[in-house]
Amino acid sequence: MTKTIDSFAALKLPAPLLSSLIEVGYETPSPIQAACIPLFLAGRDLLGEAQTGTGKTAAFALPLLARLDLAKKVPQALVLTPTRELAIQVAEAFQKYAHNMPGFHVLPVYGGQSMVIQLRALSRGAHIIVGTPGRIMDHLERKSLNLDGLQTLVLDEADEMLRMGFIDDVEWILEHTPAARQTALFSATMPDPIRRIAQRYLRDPQEVKIRSATTTVAAIKQRYWQVRGADKLEALTRMLEVEEDFEAALIFVRTKTATIDLAEKLEARGYEAAALNGDMTQGLREQVVERLKSGSLDIVVATDVAARGLDVPRISHVINYDVPYDTEAYVHRIGRTGRAGRVGSAILFVAPREMRMLKAIERATRQPIEPINLPTRGEVAERRIAQFRQQILDVLAEENLDFFYEVVRRMESEENLATRQIATALAFLAQRERPLRPDGVEMPASMMREEPVKAAPPVARAIPSATAVLPVPTFQAAERKPREEAPVVRERKERPAPRDFGNAPLVRYRIEVGKNQGAMPKEIVGAIANEGAIDGKLIGQINLFDDYSTVELPELPSELIDILRRTRVKQLPLKIRPAAPGEGDKPSFSKSTPRKSYDKSERRPRADDAARPARSDRPASADFSKRPPYRDDKKPAFGKPTGGKPAFGKPAFSKPAGKPRPR
Ligand code: ADP
Ligand code: MG
Repeated sequence: MTKTIDSFAALKLPAPLLSSLIEVGYETPSPIQAACIPLFLAGRDLLGEAQTGTGKTAAFALPLLARLDLAKKVPQALVLTPTRELAIQVAEAFQKYAHNMPGFHVLPVYGGQSMVIQLRALSRGAHIIVGTPGRIMDHLERKSLNLDGLQTLVLDEADEMLRMGFIDDVEWILEHTPAARQTALFSATMPDPIRRIAQRYLRDPQEVKIRSATTTVAAIKQRYWQVRGADKLEALTRMLEVEEDFEAALIFVRTKTATIDLAEKLEARGYEAAALNGDMTQGLREQVVERLKSGSLDIVVATDVAARGLDVPRISHVINYDVPYDTEAYVHRIGRTGRAGRVGSAILFVAPREMRMLKAIERATRQPIEPINLPTRGEVAERRIAQFRQQILDVLAEENLDFFYEVVRRMESEENLATRQIATALAFLAQRERPLRPDGVEMPASMMREEPVKAAPPVARAIPSATAVLPVPTFQAAERKPREEAPVVRERKERPAPRDFGNAPLVRYRIEVGKNQGAMPKEIVGAIANEGAIDGKLIGQINLFDDYSTVELPELPSELIDILRRTRVKQLPLKIRPAAPGEGDKPSFSKSTPRKSYDKSERRPRADDAARPARSDRPASADFSKRPPYRDDKKPAFGKPTGGKPAFGKPAFSKPAGKPRPR
């Protein structure tokens, strides 16, 4: 048994590299790094087999940099990669690791880039060249690249170079570089032709194999949807809407035309989407990857080849819109998410006749892939409503709304309207671009439950001329009467008026349902609000633990404790009682870290919060003469709140990452 190497320092890497590693935040070497770096430093030839995402780049980049002679500005190492994207990425990695090595020069060289620029860059010299085989061959033939000083040659993603038909070029390059060189070959798989190349061109190579079909895949939640009924596009957009923790998606299709088709359809539905395929010019492809990294794109629709090796930590979801050709391609695809220690999600669309591929993938990854159902329109609606409500809470908490307050107040008195009538109309206007009720959806269950209000009188009159102050161009259309059955005014059942707690401070209570019982914050809020007649807004932070949860509530009178002791969530009585001191504190290191905490406390006055005045403390009517004028420099609160993130997800109605943006 070899001793586990748990620090980069133990690998005897020089100080400038160690400090860059601290800067990039790597703590311990990955297994392939721990195994390869010492062999590499000792000058051995290497055959490294490890899956995507295991850290192969640093496994060769760090020892190459460690042994570099900065004083000699000739190519001392050449790294061959299958694609231009990968060449750029690997070059960027070198740059990152060499951050504290002044004068270091790495040069990416690939087809599609202007020859003039490349020739000029080559003539200026570089310590390390990273390139695609075809273009490197070109330069060697033209003698614009001189590899006489070459000490090390690295073949990265060798199996992919084989798959893409570069293997002859690679052999040619192997034959035209100094025979005394050190050679390292990295590959996610080791098909025969690659093994033959290794036997022929590597000298007594050390074989390093990280048998870990599960290392990459473990951090990735894998699910499949059996394609039936709804078409794939509809299914895709519904899934993207209801997925938790969505940040960005990489969607795989089989053909170049399909990348463009699907990207266009997604764009038409309001997503920030773009295609990535081998037909695009190099500049365009780089742009797409950059935009995905920076967050100006949330969805990239790609072919396998174009997305190969892509390393964008934002990618939270990989969608196999078309099934991959083989299990290896699947593993490469899903390896684009769950990067850099994050959790990723992979969803596979399979037609009934493709179920054999699903089984093959499960065998290859030694992991089950869970089936999922198509989200219903009702679920989509619930999600949109939840985001809409959150956005309202955020605006109330973070924006200066005095001006709007006054607009509404005047309208109330001058038009004799109830606040709720005005709010109803505004809700209608605000959701136009992205309806809270997708076609055919009745009132989602969540709203029925949480509606603690009495019916408003029917809206009898048109909404008057607020056009001047509200930046909604199509305001006139609102003159239609809301339909009689408008959801927000529909009475469900009589409920007692919400209890008045005055300004009681929040106290932490313990309830006996938690994660293991499947409790959700929404259900806890719903049950407590309904059974206890407590205004949901008064409910503070909820922390879920394995077998219990804590909830912050205004101090409860004993008869209310009696009611809530018997109140059930997931069929279990809450048995509510005041939490013991420290109970419910987020543990710094424990198995029962809260999964999700809904911190509403920022918006509610708390016992320990004197800094922010409670909303009820605001003057009943704003006095404009004493206030600064409406600040035009901020974006209008309506439709585009600024700042502040909601407690979960992203503000779907402002800058929704991946969610359709109102147009
Ligand atoms: P591979 O080439 O095997 O597919 P990469 O070299 O692209 O994998 O690395 C995958 C990701 O893991 C990158 O985001 C990289 O920055 C990160 N990474 C690599 N080594 C480490 C490490 N020792 N600690 C933390 N993150 C790492
Ligand atoms: Mg790699």
